[in-house]
Amino acid sequence: MVPIKVHNPVTGELAGTVIPASPSDLASTASRARQAQERWTKLSFRERARFISSFHDRILDRPDPILDTIQLETGKTRRDAFAEVVSVAGTARYYLTHGESILAGRRRRGAVPIVTSSVLEHRPHGVVGLITPWNYPFILSIADALPALLAGNAVVLKPSELTPLSAVLGRELLVESGLDPDLFGIVHGGGDVGGELIRHVDFIGFTGGSTTGRKVAVAAAERLIPCSLELGGKNPMIVLKGASLKNAAIGLLSGAFSNAGQTCISVERVYVEASIFEEFSRMVSEEARKLKLGWSRSWELDMGSLIHSAHADKVMGHIEEAVEGGARVLSGAVRRPDIGPAFVEPTVLTHVSPRASMATQETFGPVISMYPVESVHEAVVMANDTNYGLNASVWAGRSDEAMAVARQIHAGSVGIQSTLMIYNAFDVPMGGMKISGIGRRHGEHGMLRYTQEQSIVTSFSMAGGYDAMLPKIRSQRVADAVLKMVRLWRRIPGLR
Ligand code: NAD
Repeated sequence: MVPIKVHNPVTGELAGTVIPASPSDLASTASRARQAQERWTKLSFRERARFISSFHDRILDRPDPILDTIQLETGKTRRDAFAEVVSVAGTARYYLTHGESILAGRRRRGAVPIVTSSVLEHRPHGVVGLITPWNYPFILSIADALPALLAGNAVVLKPSELTPLSAVLGRELLVESGLDPDLFGIVHGGGDVGGELIRHVDFIGFTGGSTTGRKVAVAAAERLIPCSLELGGKNPMIVLKGASLKNAAIGLLSGAFSNAGQTCISVERVYVEASIFEEFSRMVSEEARKLKLGWSRSWELDMGSLIHSAHADKVMGHIEEAVEGGARVLSGAVRRPDIGPAFVEPTVLTHVSPRASMATQETFGPVISMYPVESVHEAVVMANDTNYGLNASVWAGRSDEAMAVARQIHAGSVGIQSTLMIYNAFDVPMGGMKISGIGRRHGEHGMLRYTQEQSIVTSFSMAGGYDAMLPKIRSQRVADAVLKMVRLWRRIPGLR
């Protein structure tokens, strides 16, 4: 097997190598994970939690090697790498605290009051496969594995072939925290290895682009295994009269340019009420010009590199096409080869044609297009005029006004006075409507997706129990009596 070489996107230096998995490597990794899962699932939640708790402390005690690795293979800033560590720790904290009660069995009503009962329990799928992208290589590979493990599953992960090193380190830290190495397998390679992985697992958790997500859904459907798909976005922000423009500008700069705009929930389209459009767009473009670009361990830098030159070409392609179609450039729209081969300046555009790729496709770079709108209604219609539905953001003077707008947006999450906060609001589910995905991470959904419901129903064996009831209806008179009872049933609140 030819090793996969991982290069730093800024300096081009070799950051590391990994060995791609052959079909037989993959089969044996999955088979070892299956055996380890049989042992793991017998442990109580608290026994499993010990390892994850130790991992939580370990990454907070010694974040620097993790930050270095993330930065080395992605070209992102120290701050953007730091956000990954904090978010993984937050996910661990949330599921360590709430996981046991999320997974606990619950008594439910039986088929017939008094003589029957039901209990709903959650069983792990077995082996969970995770396929992850390059933009947040530590969060997306590790944080999504934690609830799967705590719920009693084994995990086999295929990280992006562009950024596998953060995932390898995350797994090593879990193993150092006491986790059975076979319980968390890792396989390397591109889409072919991802496709092969789906053939060996009981659930597939995919994060990546919507086009790949469709292929993963088809492969999962062929095996009739459940999947969750966390896909792309073309996320709108709405700014209404009365909003604090200063705060909205801070939110937009962070929402559009952190991680160099390579965040699934990044703001890409901004709809601003016409009376404040000039002032707000000027403010945003002035602030965008002040952002410090570069790549180093300094905490001072605001924006790092894109993942590679070809991605920077794609982002510039969207910008150039928009400008040819009449867009005006308020800031950026240029590459910065003096800093590195994949740097694009934070870009603010207006007058982008609604038909331009910039308006319709995910750009996934440090670029926003801003549009004036005449009314709140127009803002909502334009925000919803997309096939995507991942995240959105609303800024208004009054919270009831913002809430009313948020409820009309077709997206899995909406931030009021925030653009990216949803990612660390661990108690609520996060995911996409429309082509932005199926399923949710975080909250109880984010753990229960790694389980299957099992209903255990009990009939108390009085007079032959439940199964003896139907055969006892042997005349119209008895049937009428049963109908009367069923009618009465609805009127007794405690038994409904
Ligand atoms: P991608 O879809 O190209 O690749 C994602 C992963 O899928 C990689 O590991 C890749 O090797 C693998 N893959 C490729 N083809 C496959 C196939 N046929 N079968 C199985 N696996 C296959 O995405 P990317 O370019 O790595 O990441 C960027 C995309 O991810 C953006 O669209 C972004 O919005 C999205 N994303 C979404 C979320 C979210 O939570 N919604 C989070 C981060 C990134």
